[in-house]
Amino acid sequence: MADASMDNHRHEAEVVVIGAGLSGVAAVIALRRAGFDNVVVLEKSHRLGGTWRDNTYPGCGCDVPSVLYEYSFAPHSWSRGFADRSEILDYLDTTAATHGVDKSIRYGTEVLSIRWQPGAHRWNLQTTTGTYTARAVIVATGPWHRPRHPDIPGLSTFPGTAFHSARWNHEVDLTGRRVAVVGTGASTVQFLPEIQPKAAHVDVFQSTPQWVLPKPDYPLPPGLHRFFEHHPATRRALRGLHHWTQEAIGVPLRHPHLLRPLESLARLHLRTSVRDRALRRALTPDYRLGGRRLITSATYYPALTRPNVRLHPTRVTTVEGSDVIGADGTRTHADIIVLATGYHIGDIPLAPHLHGTDGSLAQAWADNRRAYLGTSVSGYPNLFLLIGPNLLTGTTAVPTVLEAQLRYITTALNHLRTSGATALDVKPEAEAAHQQALHKALRNTVYNAAGGTGYYFGLPGINTFCWPWSTGRLVKRLHAFDPELYSWALPLPAQTRAKRDRMPASPSSRLQ
Ligand SMILES: Cc1cc2nc3c(=O)[nH]c(=O)nc-3n(C[C@H](O)[C@H](O)[C@H](O)COP(=O)(O)OP(=O)(O)OC[C@H]3O[C@@H](n4cnc5c(N)ncnc54)[C@H](O)[C@@H]3O)c2cc1C
Repeated sequence: MADASMDNHRHEAEVVVIGAGLSGVAAVIALRRAGFDNVVVLEKSHRLGGTWRDNTYPGCGCDVPSVLYEYSFAPHSWSRGFADRSEILDYLDTTAATHGVDKSIRYGTEVLSIRWQPGAHRWNLQTTTGTYTARAVIVATGPWHRPRHPDIPGLSTFPGTAFHSARWNHEVDLTGRRVAVVGTGASTVQFLPEIQPKAAHVDVFQSTPQWVLPKPDYPLPPGLHRFFEHHPATRRALRGLHHWTQEAIGVPLRHPHLLRPLESLARLHLRTSVRDRALRRALTPDYRLGGRRLITSATYYPALTRPNVRLHPTRVTTVEGSDVIGADGTRTHADIIVLATGYHIGDIPLAPHLHGTDGSLAQAWADNRRAYLGTSVSGYPNLFLLIGPNLLTGTTAVPTVLEAQLRYITTALNHLRTSGATALDVKPEAEAAHQQALHKALRNTVYNAAGGTGYYFGLPGINTFCWPWSTGRLVKRLHAFDPELYSWALPLPAQTRAKRDRMPASPSSRLQ
Protein backbone atom coordinates (compact mmCIF):
# COMPACT_ATOMS: atom_id res chain seq x y z
CA MET A 1 0.00 0.00 0.00
CA ALA A 2 2.91 2.27 0.86
CA ASP A 3 2.14 5.93 0.31
CA ALA A 4 -1.39 5.42 -0.95
CA SER A 5 -2.76 4.35 2.39
CA MET A 6 -3.93 6.39 5.37
CA ASP A 7 -5.67 3.63 7.28
CA ASN A 8 -7.62 0.50 6.41
CA HIS A 9 -10.62 2.31 5.03
CA ARG A 10 -9.43 5.75 3.84
CA HIS A 11 -6.75 6.03 1.21
CA GLU A 12 -5.15 8.90 -0.59
CA ALA A 13 -3.41 8.91 -3.96
CA GLU A 14 -2.30 11.48 -6.47
CA VAL A 15 -3.95 9.59 -9.30
CA VAL A 16 -6.55 6.83 -9.12
CA VAL A 17 -7.07 4.66 -12.19
CA ILE A 18 -10.34 2.72 -12.32
CA GLY A 19 -9.96 -0.64 -14.06
CA ALA A 20 -6.99 -2.93 -14.71
CA GLY A 21 -7.48 -3.96 -18.32
CA LEU A 22 -5.27 -3.10 -21.28
CA SER A 23 -5.90 0.60 -20.54
CA GLY A 24 -5.39 0.60 -16.78
CA VAL A 25 -2.12 -1.33 -17.02
CA ALA A 26 -0.78 1.07 -19.65
CA ALA A 27 -1.92 4.05 -17.56
CA VAL A 28 0.20 3.03 -14.56
CA ILE A 29 3.26 2.53 -16.71
CA ALA A 30 2.79 5.86 -18.49
CA LEU A 31 2.16 7.73 -15.23
CA ARG A 32 5.24 6.27 -13.57
CA ARG A 33 7.36 7.16 -16.59
CA ALA A 34 6.03 10.70 -16.35
CA GLY A 35 7.09 10.89 -12.70
CA PHE A 36 3.80 10.04 -10.96
CA ASP A 37 4.50 7.34 -8.40
CA ASN A 38 1.57 7.71 -6.07
CA VAL A 39 -0.87 5.91 -8.35
CA VAL A 40 -3.50 3.37 -7.37
CA VAL A 41 -5.55 1.16 -9.67
CA LEU A 42 -8.93 0.02 -8.39
CA GLU A 43 -10.09 -3.20 -10.01
CA LYS A 44 -13.33 -4.86 -9.07
CA SER A 45 -12.22 -8.29 -10.20
CA HIS A 46 -9.53 -10.44 -8.59
CA ARG A 47 -7.39 -10.52 -11.71
CA LEU A 48 -6.24 -8.01 -14.32
CA GLY A 49 -7.03 -8.30 -18.02
CA GLY A 50 -10.55 -6.87 -18.47
CA THR A 51 -11.89 -7.93 -21.88
CA TRP A 52 -9.37 -10.75 -22.20
CA ARG A 53 -10.09 -12.07 -18.72
CA ASP A 54 -13.88 -11.98 -19.07
CA ASN A 55 -14.38 -13.18 -22.64
CA THR A 56 -13.50 -16.87 -22.69
CA TYR A 57 -15.73 -18.06 -25.52
CA PRO A 58 -14.15 -20.62 -27.89
CA GLY A 59 -12.14 -18.92 -30.62
CA CYS A 60 -12.01 -15.55 -28.81
CA GLY A 61 -9.15 -13.44 -30.12
CA CYS A 62 -7.94 -10.30 -31.69
CA ASP A 63 -9.29 -9.06 -35.00
CA VAL A 64 -6.51 -6.60 -35.67
CA PRO A 65 -3.03 -7.95 -36.46
CA SER A 66 -1.22 -8.99 -33.26
CA VAL A 67 1.71 -6.65 -33.92
CA LEU A 68 -0.73 -3.75 -33.61
CA TYR A 69 -2.37 -5.17 -30.52
CA GLU A 70 0.56 -4.56 -28.21
CA TYR A 71 2.07 -1.63 -26.36
CA SER A 72 4.73 0.07 -28.44
CA PHE A 73 7.10 -0.13 -25.44
CA ALA A 74 6.60 -3.89 -25.02
CA PRO A 75 6.93 -5.70 -28.37
CA HIS A 76 6.00 -9.36 -28.19
CA SER A 77 6.77 -12.53 -30.14
CA TRP A 78 3.20 -13.41 -31.08
CA SER A 79 2.53 -16.99 -32.09
CA ARG A 80 -0.08 -16.02 -34.71
CA GLY A 81 -0.91 -13.20 -37.06
CA PHE A 82 -4.05 -12.60 -34.94
CA ALA A 83 -3.50 -13.65 -31.33
CA ASP A 84 -6.07 -15.53 -29.27
CA ARG A 85 -7.33 -14.29 -25.92
CA SER A 86 -5.12 -16.47 -23.74
CA GLU A 87 -1.97 -15.21 -25.44
CA ILE A 88 -3.16 -11.60 -25.05
CA LEU A 89 -3.97 -12.22 -21.39
CA ASP A 90 -0.50 -13.75 -20.84
CA TYR A 91 1.00 -10.75 -22.57
CA LEU A 92 -0.86 -8.35 -20.25
CA ASP A 93 0.18 -10.38 -17.18
CA THR A 94 3.82 -10.44 -18.25
CA THR A 95 3.93 -6.76 -19.15
CA ALA A 96 2.28 -5.80 -15.86
CA ALA A 97 4.75 -7.98 -13.93
CA THR A 98 7.78 -6.64 -15.83
CA HIS A 99 6.76 -3.08 -15.05
CA GLY A 100 5.74 -3.78 -11.45
CA VAL A 101 2.14 -2.71 -12.10
CA ASP A 102 0.66 -5.39 -9.89
CA LYS A 103 1.72 -3.70 -6.67
CA SER A 104 -0.37 -0.64 -7.58
CA ILE A 105 -3.56 -2.63 -8.15
CA ARG A 106 -6.16 -3.02 -5.41
CA TYR A 107 -8.05 -6.12 -6.51
CA GLY A 108 -11.58 -6.85 -5.41
CA THR A 109 -12.24 -3.11 -5.14
CA GLU A 110 -15.25 -1.91 -7.08
CA VAL A 111 -15.76 1.82 -7.40
CA LEU A 112 -19.35 2.57 -6.47
CA SER A 113 -19.40 6.34 -6.79
CA ILE A 114 -17.11 9.28 -7.53
CA ARG A 115 -17.70 12.82 -6.40
CA TRP A 116 -15.76 16.04 -7.04
CA GLN A 117 -14.97 17.95 -3.87
CA PRO A 118 -15.40 21.63 -4.90
CA GLY A 119 -13.40 23.15 -2.04
CA ALA A 120 -10.60 20.61 -1.86
CA HIS A 121 -10.31 20.14 -5.63
CA ARG A 122 -10.00 16.41 -5.21
CA TRP A 123 -12.07 13.42 -6.17
CA ASN A 124 -13.70 11.28 -3.54
CA LEU A 125 -14.26 7.66 -4.51
CA GLN A 126 -16.50 5.32 -2.55
CA THR A 127 -15.53 1.70 -3.13
CA THR A 128 -16.42 -1.70 -1.79
CA THR A 129 -13.23 -1.64 0.32
CA GLY A 130 -13.19 1.92 1.58
CA THR A 131 -12.87 5.55 0.54
CA TYR A 132 -10.19 6.94 -1.74
CA THR A 133 -9.36 10.54 -2.46
CA ALA A 134 -7.27 11.60 -5.41
CA ARG A 135 -6.15 14.73 -7.19
CA ALA A 136 -6.91 13.09 -10.55
CA VAL A 137 -8.92 10.13 -11.79
CA ILE A 138 -8.50 8.10 -14.95
CA VAL A 139 -11.58 6.10 -15.92
CA ALA A 140 -10.42 2.90 -17.65
CA THR A 141 -13.54 0.81 -17.18
CA GLY A 142 -13.67 -0.30 -20.82
CA PRO A 143 -16.10 0.41 -23.64
CA TRP A 144 -16.87 -3.32 -24.13
CA HIS A 145 -17.27 -4.24 -20.51
CA ARG A 146 -21.00 -4.77 -20.01
CA PRO A 147 -22.71 -7.54 -22.03
CA ARG A 148 -26.05 -6.59 -23.58
CA HIS A 149 -28.76 -9.04 -22.54
CA PRO A 150 -31.74 -9.09 -24.87
CA ASP A 151 -35.24 -8.83 -23.53
CA ILE A 152 -36.75 -11.98 -25.05
CA PRO A 153 -40.11 -13.04 -23.60
CA GLY A 154 -39.97 -16.62 -22.32
CA LEU A 155 -36.16 -16.72 -22.05
CA SER A 156 -36.23 -16.82 -18.25
CA THR A 157 -38.36 -20.00 -18.30
CA PHE A 158 -36.21 -21.80 -20.91
CA PRO A 159 -35.67 -25.28 -19.41
CA GLY A 160 -32.19 -25.71 -20.94
CA THR A 161 -29.12 -23.55 -20.32
CA ALA A 162 -28.87 -20.00 -21.65
CA PHE A 163 -25.82 -17.79 -21.28
CA HIS A 164 -24.22 -14.73 -22.85
CA SER A 165 -21.26 -15.40 -25.14
CA ALA A 166 -19.23 -12.80 -23.20
CA ARG A 167 -19.59 -14.90 -20.03
CA TRP A 168 -19.26 -18.35 -21.59
CA ASN A 169 -20.54 -21.20 -19.44
CA HIS A 170 -17.76 -23.79 -19.64
CA GLU A 171 -19.67 -26.18 -17.41
CA VAL A 172 -21.98 -26.88 -20.31
CA ASP A 173 -20.79 -29.50 -22.75
CA LEU A 174 -22.07 -28.74 -26.25
CA THR A 175 -21.23 -32.20 -27.57
CA GLY A 176 -24.22 -33.72 -29.30
CA ARG A 177 -26.56 -30.90 -28.20
CA ARG A 178 -28.82 -28.56 -30.15
CA VAL A 179 -27.58 -25.02 -29.81
CA ALA A 180 -29.42 -21.83 -30.75
CA VAL A 181 -27.19 -18.80 -31.29
CA VAL A 182 -28.87 -15.40 -31.05
CA GLY A 183 -26.93 -12.80 -33.04
CA THR A 184 -24.22 -12.81 -35.68
CA GLY A 185 -21.73 -10.17 -34.55
CA ALA A 186 -17.97 -10.43 -34.14
CA SER A 187 -18.21 -12.99 -31.29
CA THR A 188 -20.42 -15.44 -33.22
CA VAL A 189 -18.07 -15.13 -36.17
CA GLN A 190 -15.28 -16.32 -33.87
CA PHE A 191 -17.02 -19.04 -31.86
CA LEU A 192 -19.31 -20.65 -34.47
CA PRO A 193 -16.44 -22.42 -36.31
CA GLU A 194 -15.27 -23.75 -32.91
CA ILE A 195 -18.60 -25.10 -31.63
CA GLN A 196 -19.98 -26.38 -34.94
CA PRO A 197 -17.90 -29.58 -35.00
CA LYS A 198 -19.08 -30.53 -31.49
CA ALA A 199 -22.77 -29.65 -31.53
CA ALA A 200 -25.39 -31.94 -33.01
CA HIS A 201 -27.04 -28.94 -34.60
CA VAL A 202 -26.60 -25.16 -34.49
CA ASP A 203 -29.41 -22.71 -35.37
CA VAL A 204 -28.00 -19.26 -35.97
CA PHE A 205 -30.44 -16.36 -35.73
CA GLN A 206 -29.29 -13.33 -37.70
CA SER A 207 -31.14 -10.03 -37.50
CA THR A 208 -28.60 -8.11 -39.62
CA PRO A 209 -26.06 -9.63 -42.03
CA GLN A 210 -22.45 -8.51 -41.64
CA TRP A 211 -19.82 -7.54 -44.15
CA VAL A 212 -17.04 -10.09 -43.71
CA LEU A 213 -13.58 -9.66 -45.18
CA PRO A 214 -11.09 -12.54 -45.34
CA LYS A 215 -8.74 -12.77 -42.35
CA PRO A 216 -5.16 -13.65 -43.22
CA ASP A 217 -4.44 -15.48 -39.95
CA TYR A 218 -1.37 -17.69 -39.83
CA PRO A 219 1.07 -19.10 -37.29
CA LEU A 220 4.25 -17.05 -37.00
CA PRO A 221 7.33 -19.32 -36.96
CA PRO A 222 9.61 -18.85 -33.91
CA GLY A 223 12.51 -18.41 -36.34
CA LEU A 224 10.87 -15.20 -37.51
CA HIS A 225 11.08 -13.77 -34.01
CA ARG A 226 14.77 -14.63 -33.76
CA PHE A 227 15.21 -12.82 -37.05
CA PHE A 228 13.29 -9.80 -35.66
CA GLU A 229 15.49 -9.79 -32.55
CA HIS A 230 18.59 -9.51 -34.69
CA HIS A 231 16.99 -7.04 -37.08
CA PRO A 232 14.58 -4.93 -35.03
CA ALA A 233 14.07 -2.55 -37.95
CA THR A 234 12.30 -5.34 -39.87
CA ARG A 235 9.81 -5.78 -37.04
CA ARG A 236 9.17 -2.06 -36.99
CA ALA A 237 8.68 -2.24 -40.76
CA LEU A 238 6.13 -5.07 -40.36
CA ARG A 239 4.27 -3.07 -37.71
CA GLY A 240 4.34 -0.05 -40.00
CA LEU A 241 3.04 -2.12 -42.90
CA HIS A 242 0.09 -3.39 -40.85
CA HIS A 243 -0.58 0.09 -39.48
CA TRP A 244 -0.70 1.64 -42.94
CA THR A 245 -2.83 -1.21 -44.29
CA GLN A 246 -5.37 -0.50 -41.55
CA GLU A 247 -5.16 3.22 -42.33
CA ALA A 248 -5.61 2.50 -46.06
CA ILE A 249 -8.78 0.50 -45.34
CA GLY A 250 -9.99 3.48 -43.32
CA VAL A 251 -9.81 5.83 -46.35
CA PRO A 252 -12.89 4.48 -48.20
CA LEU A 253 -14.79 4.30 -44.91
CA ARG A 254 -14.39 8.07 -44.68
CA HIS A 255 -14.97 8.56 -48.43
CA PRO A 256 -17.73 6.09 -49.29
CA HIS A 257 -17.49 6.75 -53.05
CA LEU A 258 -14.22 4.74 -52.84
CA LEU A 259 -15.83 1.73 -51.18
CA ARG A 260 -16.51 -0.41 -54.23
CA PRO A 261 -13.22 -2.37 -54.33
CA LEU A 262 -13.56 -3.36 -50.66
CA GLU A 263 -17.21 -4.32 -51.14
CA SER A 264 -16.24 -6.38 -54.19
CA LEU A 265 -13.58 -8.18 -52.15
CA ALA A 266 -16.13 -8.98 -49.43
CA ARG A 267 -18.66 -10.20 -52.04
CA LEU A 268 -16.00 -12.34 -53.69
CA HIS A 269 -15.16 -13.81 -50.28
CA LEU A 270 -18.84 -14.65 -49.77
CA ARG A 271 -19.25 -16.11 -53.28
CA THR A 272 -16.18 -18.34 -53.02
CA SER A 273 -17.08 -19.53 -49.53
CA VAL A 274 -20.82 -20.13 -49.89
CA ARG A 275 -22.21 -21.96 -52.94
CA ASP A 276 -25.84 -22.00 -51.88
CA ARG A 277 -27.55 -18.97 -53.47
CA ALA A 278 -30.29 -18.62 -50.89
CA LEU A 279 -27.75 -18.68 -48.07
CA ARG A 280 -25.62 -16.17 -49.91
CA ARG A 281 -28.59 -13.87 -50.34
CA ALA A 282 -29.38 -14.13 -46.65
CA LEU A 283 -25.77 -13.23 -45.82
CA THR A 284 -25.64 -10.20 -48.12
CA PRO A 285 -25.92 -6.88 -46.26
CA ASP A 286 -28.28 -4.20 -47.55
CA TYR A 287 -26.13 -1.34 -46.23
CA ARG A 288 -22.70 -0.11 -47.28
CA LEU A 289 -19.56 -1.83 -46.02
CA GLY A 290 -18.37 -0.11 -42.83
CA GLY A 291 -21.83 1.06 -41.74
CA ARG A 292 -21.46 -1.42 -38.93
CA ARG A 293 -18.37 -2.92 -37.38
CA LEU A 294 -16.24 -4.49 -40.08
CA ILE A 295 -15.64 -8.19 -39.52
CA THR A 296 -12.78 -10.39 -40.69
CA SER A 297 -12.85 -14.17 -40.75
CA ALA A 298 -11.74 -17.03 -42.97
CA THR A 299 -13.77 -19.64 -41.07
CA TYR A 300 -17.21 -18.14 -40.43
CA TYR A 301 -18.76 -18.61 -43.88
CA PRO A 302 -17.43 -22.20 -44.24
CA ALA A 303 -18.91 -23.05 -40.80
CA LEU A 304 -22.32 -21.78 -41.95
CA THR A 305 -22.28 -24.19 -44.89
CA ARG A 306 -21.85 -27.31 -42.71
CA PRO A 307 -24.82 -29.69 -42.73
CA ASN A 308 -25.45 -29.29 -38.99
CA VAL A 309 -25.71 -25.48 -39.17
CA ARG A 310 -28.78 -23.52 -40.23
CA LEU A 311 -28.90 -19.77 -40.63
CA HIS A 312 -32.24 -18.12 -39.90
CA PRO A 313 -32.26 -14.57 -41.27
CA THR A 314 -34.63 -13.31 -38.63
CA ARG A 315 -34.46 -11.94 -35.11
CA VAL A 316 -35.65 -14.00 -32.16
CA THR A 317 -38.95 -12.77 -30.78
CA THR A 318 -39.83 -15.33 -28.11
CA VAL A 319 -38.82 -18.51 -26.40
CA GLU A 320 -41.61 -20.98 -25.68
CA GLY A 321 -40.50 -23.91 -23.54
CA SER A 322 -37.52 -25.33 -25.44
CA ASP A 323 -38.49 -23.64 -28.70
CA VAL A 324 -36.78 -20.54 -30.01
CA ILE A 325 -39.11 -18.56 -32.26
CA GLY A 326 -38.11 -16.06 -34.93
CA ALA A 327 -39.97 -13.00 -36.20
CA ASP A 328 -40.63 -14.85 -39.47
CA GLY A 329 -42.33 -17.74 -37.61
CA THR A 330 -39.24 -20.02 -37.56
CA ARG A 331 -39.50 -22.42 -34.64
CA THR A 332 -36.50 -24.52 -33.56
CA HIS A 333 -35.88 -26.75 -30.58
CA ALA A 334 -32.80 -25.98 -28.47
CA ASP A 335 -30.98 -27.54 -25.52
CA ILE A 336 -28.71 -24.52 -25.14
CA ILE A 337 -29.12 -20.85 -26.08
CA VAL A 338 -26.06 -18.69 -26.60
CA LEU A 339 -26.89 -14.99 -26.45
CA ALA A 340 -24.32 -13.38 -28.73
CA THR A 341 -26.01 -10.02 -28.43
CA GLY A 342 -22.97 -7.85 -27.90
CA TYR A 343 -22.19 -5.17 -25.37
CA HIS A 344 -23.43 -1.81 -24.14
CA ILE A 345 -20.68 -0.18 -26.17
CA GLY A 346 -19.12 2.92 -24.67
CA ASP A 347 -21.54 2.93 -21.81
CA ILE A 348 -19.88 3.83 -18.49
CA PRO A 349 -21.90 2.02 -15.81
CA LEU A 350 -20.50 4.46 -13.25
CA ALA A 351 -21.95 7.48 -15.12
CA PRO A 352 -25.02 7.92 -12.86
CA HIS A 353 -22.70 7.83 -9.82
CA LEU A 354 -19.98 10.07 -11.22
CA HIS A 355 -20.66 13.59 -9.97
CA GLY A 356 -18.69 16.53 -11.34
CA THR A 357 -19.13 20.24 -10.70
CA ASP A 358 -22.73 20.37 -11.98
CA GLY A 359 -24.22 16.90 -11.69
CA SER A 360 -23.79 13.33 -12.78
CA LEU A 361 -22.14 12.22 -16.00
CA ALA A 362 -25.32 10.32 -16.87
CA GLN A 363 -27.25 13.62 -16.77
CA ALA A 364 -24.56 15.44 -18.74
CA TRP A 365 -24.59 12.69 -21.35
CA ALA A 366 -28.37 12.25 -21.53
CA ASP A 367 -28.55 13.58 -25.09
CA ASN A 368 -24.95 13.08 -26.28
CA ARG A 369 -21.75 11.53 -24.94
CA ARG A 370 -19.82 14.75 -25.32
CA ALA A 371 -16.10 14.93 -24.58
CA TYR A 372 -13.06 16.77 -25.83
CA LEU A 373 -10.98 14.33 -27.91
CA GLY A 374 -12.82 11.52 -26.12
CA THR A 375 -10.66 12.27 -23.07
CA SER A 376 -11.82 15.32 -21.08
CA VAL A 377 -15.42 16.18 -20.21
CA SER A 378 -16.29 19.73 -19.26
CA GLY A 379 -17.51 19.91 -15.66
CA TYR A 380 -15.37 16.91 -14.62
CA PRO A 381 -12.06 18.51 -13.59
CA ASN A 382 -8.89 16.42 -13.32
CA LEU A 383 -10.76 13.45 -14.76
CA PHE A 384 -9.83 11.63 -17.95
CA LEU A 385 -11.53 8.87 -19.91
CA LEU A 386 -9.50 6.18 -21.62
CA ILE A 387 -11.10 5.00 -24.87
CA GLY A 388 -13.88 7.52 -24.32
CA PRO A 389 -16.48 8.44 -26.93
CA ASN A 390 -15.75 8.93 -30.66
CA LEU A 391 -12.14 7.77 -30.63
CA LEU A 392 -12.20 4.64 -32.78
CA THR A 393 -12.79 3.88 -36.43
CA GLY A 394 -13.70 0.73 -38.28
CA THR A 395 -10.03 -0.23 -38.38
CA THR A 396 -8.23 1.29 -35.37
CA ALA A 397 -6.24 -0.87 -32.97
CA VAL A 398 -7.10 0.24 -29.44
CA PRO A 399 -3.47 0.35 -28.15
CA THR A 400 -2.56 3.06 -30.68
CA VAL A 401 -5.28 5.37 -29.39
CA LEU A 402 -4.67 4.46 -25.81
CA GLU A 403 -0.99 5.37 -25.88
CA ALA A 404 -1.70 8.70 -27.57
CA GLN A 405 -4.32 9.46 -24.93
CA LEU A 406 -1.89 8.62 -22.15
CA ARG A 407 0.64 11.01 -23.59
CA TYR A 408 -2.08 13.70 -23.58
CA ILE A 409 -3.11 12.92 -20.01
CA THR A 410 0.41 12.82 -18.57
CA THR A 411 1.18 16.12 -20.29
CA ALA A 412 -1.97 17.63 -18.75
CA LEU A 413 -1.10 16.29 -15.30
CA ASN A 414 2.44 17.60 -15.59
CA HIS A 415 1.05 21.04 -16.41
CA LEU A 416 -1.14 20.76 -13.34
CA ARG A 417 1.82 19.81 -11.19
CA THR A 418 4.29 22.40 -12.47
CA SER A 419 1.80 25.27 -12.59
CA GLY A 420 0.85 24.78 -8.96
CA ALA A 421 -2.78 24.67 -10.08
CA THR A 422 -5.18 22.40 -8.28
CA ALA A 423 -7.62 21.67 -11.09
CA LEU A 424 -8.03 21.80 -14.82
CA ASP A 425 -11.35 21.58 -16.62
CA VAL A 426 -11.81 21.62 -20.36
CA LYS A 427 -13.68 24.74 -21.42
CA PRO A 428 -17.26 24.07 -22.53
CA GLU A 429 -16.71 26.08 -25.72
CA ALA A 430 -13.65 23.95 -26.65
CA GLU A 431 -15.63 20.80 -26.08
CA ALA A 432 -18.64 22.11 -28.03
CA ALA A 433 -16.50 23.20 -30.99
CA HIS A 434 -14.87 19.77 -31.10
CA GLN A 435 -18.22 18.02 -30.92
CA GLN A 436 -19.65 20.16 -33.68
CA ALA A 437 -16.72 19.51 -36.03
CA LEU A 438 -16.73 15.81 -35.23
CA HIS A 439 -20.42 15.20 -35.87
CA LYS A 440 -20.31 17.34 -39.01
CA ALA A 441 -17.40 15.26 -40.35
CA LEU A 442 -19.15 12.01 -39.41
CA ARG A 443 -22.02 12.89 -41.74
CA ASN A 444 -19.77 12.28 -44.74
CA THR A 445 -18.48 8.91 -43.56
CA VAL A 446 -19.96 5.47 -44.01
CA TYR A 447 -20.13 5.09 -40.23
CA ASN A 448 -23.34 7.12 -40.21
CA ALA A 449 -24.80 5.38 -43.25
CA ALA A 450 -26.58 2.44 -41.61
CA GLY A 451 -29.56 4.51 -40.51
CA GLY A 452 -28.54 5.63 -37.03
CA THR A 453 -28.75 2.22 -35.41
CA GLY A 454 -26.27 -0.53 -34.55
CA TYR A 455 -22.90 -0.80 -32.96
CA TYR A 456 -21.74 2.76 -33.47
CA PHE A 457 -24.86 4.43 -32.11
CA GLY A 458 -24.73 4.52 -28.30
CA LEU A 459 -27.73 6.88 -28.28
CA PRO A 460 -30.58 6.85 -30.80
CA GLY A 461 -29.36 8.57 -33.96
CA ILE A 462 -26.06 9.69 -32.39
CA ASN A 463 -22.78 8.10 -33.38
CA THR A 464 -20.92 7.94 -30.08
CA PHE A 465 -18.20 5.55 -31.23
CA CYS A 466 -16.43 6.73 -34.38
CA TRP A 467 -13.63 9.15 -35.04
CA PRO A 468 -14.35 10.60 -38.49
CA TRP A 469 -10.77 11.28 -39.54
CA SER A 470 -7.63 9.16 -39.81
CA THR A 471 -6.03 7.52 -36.79
CA GLY A 472 -2.86 9.46 -37.67
CA ARG A 473 -4.79 12.69 -37.23
CA LEU A 474 -6.13 11.54 -33.88
CA VAL A 475 -2.64 10.69 -32.64
CA LYS A 476 -1.38 14.08 -33.81
CA ARG A 477 -4.21 15.90 -32.02
CA LEU A 478 -3.58 13.95 -28.83
CA HIS A 479 0.12 14.71 -28.98
CA ALA A 480 -0.61 18.42 -28.86
CA PHE A 481 -2.05 19.25 -25.44
CA ASP A 482 -3.22 22.87 -25.46
CA PRO A 483 -3.51 24.39 -21.96
CA GLU A 484 -5.47 27.33 -23.39
CA LEU A 485 -8.45 25.02 -23.91
CA TYR A 486 -8.69 24.40 -20.18
CA SER A 487 -9.76 26.47 -17.19
CA TRP A 488 -7.20 26.26 -14.40
CA ALA A 489 -7.90 26.69 -10.73
CA LEU A 490 -5.01 28.11 -8.76
CA PRO A 491 -4.55 28.90 -5.11
CA LEU A 492 -4.96 32.67 -4.76
CA PRO A 493 -1.30 33.78 -4.62
CA ALA A 494 -0.59 31.52 -7.58
CA GLN A 495 -3.41 33.14 -9.54
CA THR A 496 -1.72 36.49 -9.14
CA ARG A 497 1.57 34.97 -10.26
CA ALA A 498 -0.12 33.31 -13.23
CA LYS A 499 -1.55 36.62 -14.40
CA ARG A 500 1.87 38.14 -14.18
CA ASP A 501 3.47 35.23 -16.07
CA ARG A 502 0.59 35.10 -18.55
CA MET A 503 -0.22 31.48 -17.67
CA PRO A 504 -3.44 30.08 -19.08
CA ALA A 505 -5.09 30.47 -15.68
CA SER A 506 -8.73 31.29 -16.17
CA PRO A 507 -10.55 29.73 -13.28
CA SER A 508 -14.14 29.12 -14.20
CA SER A 509 -16.76 29.80 -11.55
CA ARG A 510 -17.33 26.05 -11.43
CA LEU A 511 -13.79 25.47 -10.23
CA GLN A 512 -13.64 28.05 -7.45
C1 LIG B 1 -14.47 -10.09 -27.72
C2 LIG B 1 -13.72 -8.82 -27.94
C3 LIG B 1 -12.75 -8.74 -28.92
C4 LIG B 1 -12.04 -7.55 -29.10
N1 LIG B 1 -11.10 -7.50 -30.09
C5 LIG B 1 -10.40 -6.35 -30.25
C6 LIG B 1 -9.41 -6.25 -31.27
O1 LIG B 1 -9.17 -7.18 -32.02
N2 LIG B 1 -8.73 -5.09 -31.41
C7 LIG B 1 -8.99 -4.02 -30.60
O2 LIG B 1 -8.34 -2.98 -30.77
N3 LIG B 1 -9.91 -4.08 -29.63
C8 LIG B 1 -10.62 -5.22 -29.44
N4 LIG B 1 -11.60 -5.27 -28.48
C9 LIG B 1 -11.82 -4.12 -27.62
C10 LIG B 1 -11.12 -4.32 -26.25
O3 LIG B 1 -12.10 -4.24 -25.28
C11 LIG B 1 -10.05 -3.27 -26.09
O4 LIG B 1 -9.07 -3.48 -27.08
C12 LIG B 1 -9.35 -3.30 -24.73
O5 LIG B 1 -9.17 -4.58 -24.25
C13 LIG B 1 -10.08 -2.44 -23.73
O6 LIG B 1 -9.30 -2.40 -22.58
P1 LIG B 1 -9.77 -1.52 -21.35
O7 LIG B 1 -8.75 -1.70 -20.31
O8 LIG B 1 -10.06 -0.14 -21.81
O9 LIG B 1 -11.17 -2.13 -20.90
P2 LIG B 1 -11.50 -3.58 -20.29
O10 LIG B 1 -10.61 -4.59 -20.88
O11 LIG B 1 -12.94 -3.75 -20.44
O12 LIG B 1 -11.10 -3.42 -18.76
C14 LIG B 1 -11.88 -2.63 -17.90
C15 LIG B 1 -11.60 -3.06 -16.47
O13 LIG B 1 -12.29 -2.19 -15.59
C16 LIG B 1 -12.84 -2.95 -14.52
N5 LIG B 1 -13.97 -2.20 -13.96
C17 LIG B 1 -15.11 -1.84 -14.61
N6 LIG B 1 -15.91 -1.13 -13.79
C18 LIG B 1 -15.26 -1.03 -12.60
C19 LIG B 1 -15.57 -0.41 -11.35
N7 LIG B 1 -16.71 0.25 -11.15
N8 LIG B 1 -14.66 -0.50 -10.35
C20 LIG B 1 -13.48 -1.16 -10.52
N9 LIG B 1 -13.15 -1.78 -11.68
C21 LIG B 1 -14.02 -1.71 -12.70
C22 LIG B 1 -13.23 -4.26 -15.18
O14 LIG B 1 -13.36 -5.32 -14.26
C23 LIG B 1 -12.09 -4.46 -16.17
O15 LIG B 1 -11.05 -5.22 -15.62
C24 LIG B 1 -12.33 -6.44 -28.29
C25 LIG B 1 -13.34 -6.50 -27.34
C26 LIG B 1 -14.03 -7.69 -27.15
C27 LIG B 1 -15.11 -7.73 -26.11
